[in-house]
Amino acid sequence: MAKIVKVRCNGSGKHVNEVDVEKALKTHVVLRGKPASEHPPIPQRLVLDCQDCREGKVILTREQIEANL
Ligand SMILES: [Zn+2]
Repeated sequence: MAKIVKVRCNGSGKHVNEVDVEKALKTHVVLRGKPASEHPPIPQRLVLDCQDCREGKVILTREQIEANL
């Protein structure tokens, strides 16, 4: 079952984004020249675009990622 973490974007709207951590990792962590593994390396942080605005970014720290895998 996917774990969803709620993170506010850093735009003026402070939109709450529901992020599927596992899916976000697989989508955003690119392994050069290697097939995607089941457990990709966890980056220090993951920066996603806000789902509700163009200015905001949604930032997940490594701690948040690890806690939700
Ligand atoms: Zn936003």
